[in-house]
Amino acid sequence: MVALLAATAFNQTRSQEGSTKNPATSETMQTNQKKFGLVIHGGAGTIDRSRMTPEAEREYRAGLERALAAGYEILKRGGSSLDATEAAVRLLEDDPHFNAGKGAVFTSAGTNELDAAIMDGNTLKAGTVASLKHIRNPVSLARLVMEKSGHVMMDGEGAEVFAKENGVQLVDQKYFFTQERWDALQKIKEAEKSGGAGAKKFIITDQDRHGTVGAVALDRQGNLAAATSTGGTTNKRAGRIGDSPIIGGGTYANNATCAVSATGDGEYFIRATVAHDLSALMEYRGMKLQEAAQTVLDKVAKLGGSGGLIAIDAKGNMALPFNTSGMYRGHVDLDGKFVIEIYK
Ligand code: ASP
Repeated sequence: MVALLAATAFNQTRSQEGSTKNPATSETMQTNQKKFGLVIHGGAGTIDRSRMTPEAEREYRAGLERALAAGYEILKRGGSSLDATEAAVRLLEDDPHFNAGKGAVFTSAGTNELDAAIMDGNTLKAGTVASLKHIRNPVSLARLVMEKSGHVMMDGEGAEVFAKENGVQLVDQKYFFTQERWDALQKIKEAEKSGGAGAKKFIITDQDRHGTVGAVALDRQGNLAAATSTGGTTNKRAGRIGDSPIIGGGTYANNATCAVSATGDGEYFIRATVAHDLSALMEYRGMKLQEAAQTVLDKVAKLGGSGGLIAIDAKGNMALPFNTSGMYRGHVDLDGKFVIEIYK
């Protein structure tokens, strides 16, 4: 398990806060000493080293680093975990390497349909969006749904009307076109057509099939948040919704336990109620984060699914398990150093 960040004298600080006379000193202490943490992912799957050029690997790492830096800066300044997770996910949505926002995969109909969610562990408020076709940053619309719609989940046209009413600019479907995702769709369609016969001709990796981005954070106020965004799975039927926007499936946050963002075969993650199960194992069974994370992932594997998740608990402990050959992931370590990894 990765230990918490900036943990210096946390308990001591807490006990001193009330008795500090000078408000300026008190504020400085609170800002300097309360622990916080951030973990991000850019999707789990069979990440084929042989297909990864050094240049591509550098680009993936740079994308993860940018997202980590955006969230980390917010937390360091004393900003909220909600802001940090949204900021990190937005950057990953804008990066064509990841299957979310700009880099979303194609449906079998040749469209892009995006899902996202955000959850506030302090209030248990959540906002989720599904089947969006014209929203550049679905995670931010999910946040608007949470804060302004009076609802938790909105989809399709209705969600986009709500977005417009709230000043969100809609983008043309063309915005989501990337050659690599288009080619992946064609490859999967070809493989389907040729059935078992020509299967060997088409090497279909998880990078062709899916991916997702997510962030979980603990802020200096002790609040947890989780955010997830995805284009779903390549060649999915139009209208298919994965686990990412399902509260308790691919996304969940609760200050009493942890914040979770998942990636993998969405259907299995929904059926295993992964994110909420993880939290429930901690809340009702008293399980530690790492064990609870592994337990839910094992449940997914038993059903036949694969993938991974990132989680952070209220103490700042982090878990990043996955049962695939790789998961794009990053966190900030004890000394404020960014750790970015791809393979096992
Ligand atoms: N979980 C996502 C979905 O099923 C895909 C992924 O994470 O790879 O929509």
